[in-house]
Formats: sequence, C-alpha cells, structure tokens
Amino acid sequence: MSNEEETLILDSVNRWLQRDVAPYAHDLEQADEYPHAMVEQMKELGLFGATIDPQYGGLGLSASTYSKIVAAVAEVWMSLSGIFNSHLIMARCVQSFGTEEQKQKYLPRFATGELRGGIGLTEPDAGTDLQGIRCTAKKDGDYYVVNGSKAWITNSIEGSVIGLLVKTDPNATPPRKGMSMFIAENGEGFNVSKKLKKLGYKGIDTADISFDNYRVHKDCLIGGVEGRGFYNAVGGLELGRINVAARGVGVATAALKQATAYAQQRKTFGKPICEHQAIQLKLGEMATRTEAARLLLEQAAKAFDSGERCDMEAGMAKYFATEAAAKNADENLRIHGAFGYSCEADVERLYRDAPLMIIGEGTNEMQRIIISRQLIERNPI
Ligand SMILES: Cc1cc2nc3c(=O)[nH]c(=O)nc-3n(C[C@H](O)[C@H](O)[C@H](O)COP(=O)(O)OP(=O)(O)OC[C@H]3O[C@@H](n4cnc5c(N)ncnc54)[C@H](O)[C@@H]3O)c2cc1C
Repeated sequence: MSNEEETLILDSVNRWLQRDVAPYAHDLEQADEYPHAMVEQMKELGLFGATIDPQYGGLGLSASTYSKIVAAVAEVWMSLSGIFNSHLIMARCVQSFGTEEQKQKYLPRFATGELRGGIGLTEPDAGTDLQGIRCTAKKDGDYYVVNGSKAWITNSIEGSVIGLLVKTDPNATPPRKGMSMFIAENGEGFNVSKKLKKLGYKGIDTADISFDNYRVHKDCLIGGVEGRGFYNAVGGLELGRINVAARGVGVATAALKQATAYAQQRKTFGKPICEHQAIQLKLGEMATRTEAARLLLEQAAKAFDSGERCDMEAGMAKYFATEAAAKNADENLRIHGAFGYSCEADVERLYRDAPLMIIGEGTNEMQRIIISRQLIERNPI
C-alpha cells in the first residue's frame, strides 16, 4: 500500500472518530452500553476485514497501517478497538491455518462483519497456562461434542462465532499436542452468560460461555487436522500483541494530550501549572514514554509485515506500550487533581481502561519472560 493510500484510510477513520465516536463515547461508556450504531459504521469502513486478504473480501492492510488505525481508535475510545481486534485474531487463525474451503466459507462473511466474533481461549482455571484448559471436544460421527467452559470471552454476546480452543486428546503429552481449534458458531449447547461487569473496557461485551453437549461439525476444525490448536492460538497472538501495543499507544497519547492541555489551563500560585517544575517533569516523561512506545510498535509491526519471527518485538511493544498507557493515565489523573477523579471527564476512563492491556494477550509478566527467552536464543555463547 502506498503512503497516499494509507493516509486516505487513516483520514477517513479519523473523520469518523471525530464526527461519530468522540461526541458519544463518554455517555455510552458511563452507561456500559454497547455501541450498536458505531458497529454499523465500522462495517461500512471495512474495519472487520482490515487485515483479511482482499481475495476474501478484506482490505488486506499491513500490520503497520492496521496498528495506526487501532492506536487512533483507542485514543478516542479503547473499547471500540476490541470489537474488531478480537474478531480479526479469529480471522487470522482461519486465514493462516484454515483449509481453502474454510477460508472461502468464512472470511468473506467475517470481512463484512456479517459474521462477527472473537477468540475463546481462557477458562476459569486456565489463562496464562493455556495447556491447562479442560474444555473437550469428542468425535461423534461427522461432529465433535464439546463440553466445558470458557471465561472472559469478548464479543461473545453481540458476536455469534468464536475461535474455540479445546482438547481433542486430553491425555496427550505434552498437552498442547492434544489441542484443537474450531470455528464455533453460537447454537444449541453454546450458552453465553450475562455481560460481565468490569473496571473499564466498558460498552463492549465480555462474558463466560458454557458448552453443554454443543455439537460442531468436523468441517469447522481449523485446518482439518486435530492437534494443531495450540499453534493456531499462539500464531494469532503475535498480531494480537501488536494490536494491544497499538491500543496502549492510543491510551498513552490520549492521556498525554489531556495533560498537556490541562496543564496550560489550570493555574495555581499565580501561574499555569505547566510552569511548575514538578509538572514539567511529568509531562517530559509522559511525552518520551509515548514516543518510545510508538517506535517500538512501529518496529514490531514492520517485523511482522516482513514475515520475520517477531515474538520478541511484539512482546517488547506490548509490554512497554501498555505500561506506558497505565503510567501516563496515572500521571494524567494526578495532573488533573480532583477533576481527574470526576466521572464527568474522561481522565478517569483512561485510568480504568489501561490495566486491561497489562493483562490481555499474555500478561506483562509473561511478555518479559518471552523477551528474555528470545534474547538468550538469539545470543548464544
Ligand atoms: C476484559 C477482559 C477481556 C478478555 N477477553 C478475552 C477473550 O476475548 N478471549 C480469551 O480467551 N481471554 C480473554 N481474557 C482473558 C485474558 O486473556 C486472561 O485474563 C489472561 O490471559 C491472564 O490469565 P488469567 O486471568 O487466568 O491469569 P493467570 O494466568 O491466573 O495469572 C495470574 C498472575 O500470575 C502471573 N503468572 C502466571 N503464570 C506465570 C509464570 N509462568 N511466570 C510468571 N508469572 C506468571 C500472571 O502474569 C498474572 O500476574 C480477557 C480478560 C479480560 C480482563
């Protein structure tokens, strides 16, 4: 994609954000209300097919362009990015690991947003330790019968399909060899809970799912072969981590912009607070952190686009950008004093939204472990 084409896409996303999202995000967020109208607009913008190959009806954007869109969306309302990010992780699994029939059947419908969803990995007893999942799928003729439960699944109420990670051989050693992923559409035995109440990341639906003899056709087994689910899930996570890093950049930027403006308006002791050295130190650090996060994100997206292995780059970007978001949100709140604590401003929203990114797509503890392992692997003595 040329620079001009990228600019055109980013301009239209930014126009939409300023016209149709910014004026309404605050009220929807405070009411924890699903942004139905915005989802329709996202369909028109093609966001549900952003990274899907054009041969299957998507825009085929590079990770570099896509991450700029995600950062722009998250700067205005982070929850909105989750509606298409999680969906595109599922699409990525189908595009990278699915059979040609699966790609032709699902990707065009994913790209238009007609069929939307997310990714079902986490369970009540297994998050970081994915190999510890207990949800099983047992072959029964042309179908698999699924039993078990998933926890914290985003887009599971408003969406109607998930990339579902299960064990097809619960006795395999190592356990990952007995794991498989299915394209699972909501149906009988696929029971979604009520929307979970969360600290932040409001509006968007996150829920638990229990599977009670849910039947999924064997043609929905991604790639058509059992035992590849763990690799499918992990393969989708590199793009997922770049997504989350981009959200971090968006939130860090929003906090920086709010703080920069307020520090010039608010006066104490006869001068704007931006003239007090203690505030200048905060702003200096916030700006540097935001820029460093953006550069790490760009580097990770570039590595992904070149087809290189990039778990280290994606891990560094995810870790640094999301910690930057949390730190900037905290400093922004301090700079705003009592006003930062008010639900009338969006200062507190950034403060509530940031921690999710530290937990999701692999916690930041795990990111540092991944970075360290790669560091040793790439630098043997
Ligand atoms: C709002 C929200 C939306 C979500 N959406 C989805 C979704 O759509 N799909 C989905 O599948 N999941 C989703 N999740 C779940 C999320 O991916 C998990 O919460 C995450 O993977 C962490 O798992 P856990 O919560 O079980 O924490 P645990 O794995 O129990 O970890 C607890 C703590 O122990 C640390 N820890 C664990 N193992 C190690 C280790 N080996 N070394 C060092 N430290 C370790 C962790 O870093 C963490 O600090 C969502 C979560 C939230 C909050």
